Amino acid sequence: MDMREKLQIVGLYMSMHETPPINVVGLANRLGIKVYEADWPSTISGKIQKDREKGGHSGFAIFVNKSHSRNRRRFTIAHEVAHFVLHEDLIGDGVFDDALYRSGLPNKIEQQANGLAADILMPYQIVQANLDMSIDALADMFDVSTAAITARLSTVSSAGSFVS
Ligand SMILES: [Zn+2]
Repeated sequence: MDMREKLQIVGLYMSMHETPPINVVGLANRLGIKVYEADWPSTISGKIQKDREKGGHSGFAIFVNKSHSRNRRRFTIAHEVAHFVLHEDLIGDGVFDDALYRSGLPNKIEQQANGLAADILMPYQIVQANLDMSIDALADMFDVSTAAITARLSTVSSAGSFVS
């Protein structure tokens, strides 16, 4: 599957599940990725790796820190899904993201993953259609942190969206 096909699957999944919050585990599964919780120190957010045993039909598995809040875990899963969609050729032996979503990959790569994660969790059109809602109400609706929706609102007018 190339990036274009993966982005089509993401776009299709999102158009079929238009009512937020977006089910990120469902999206990962749709892409052939299985998602697991892991017992890690709080300094680690998540990991994506090729896993013969635990991987889905894509061959990949995502692990997310089970001690993190629900919002945080959702963002981590979306971030790791984004690495699969955009950066599969860079995953190698696995990408381990720390608490600030730094993995040793270039910053630009991490920013791309954060950008697509935001597109997935807070779809552009839905945010756009609800700009009159408060930050708290939007965070609630998308099941994300207020920090995530605040960052999203600051980029929503620049239209730098992977999935439209
Ligand atoms: Zn990352």
